[in-house]
Amino acid sequence: MKSDCIFCKIIKGESPAKFVYRDMDFVAFHNIKPSAPVHVLLVPVEHIESVNALEERHGAVISKMIIRAKEIAKQLGISDSGYKLVINVGRGAGQIVFHLHIHLIGGW
Ligand code: 5GP
Ligand code: ZN
Repeated sequence: MKSDCIFCKIIKGESPAKFVYRDMDFVAFHNIKPSAPVHVLLVPVEHIESVNALEERHGAVISKMIIRAKEIAKQLGISDSGYKLVINVGRGAGQIVFHLHIHLIGGW
């Protein structure tokens, strides 16, 4: 946990969010500034700065997040219309929160 990280604060319950999923390893909540009708963020509980900081031991949580993203898409009714799973890596790619997250975007 990093005290100045907004996603760590959300995970700890120190900042509010509309959660759609949570377990011991990761959480999912609605983006505060959605860029599509559905815009959910999946975030590991561990503070990992970006894909660049991933290690082999993170493999299980990352695959579980992708499988859960599929379930959340189904739950929110966007499986058939289509959705994107996006990870921005680094400032040049538009990453503004340096706590790794997967964007689940769809509902057009
Ligand atoms: P990035 O550009 O780093 O890949 O994506 C960060 C995302 O986090 C942005 O789409 C932004 O709208 C979202 N975000 C930033 N701060 C908050 C917050 O406090 N709550 C929620 N729910 N989303 C946030
Ligand atoms: Zn964090």
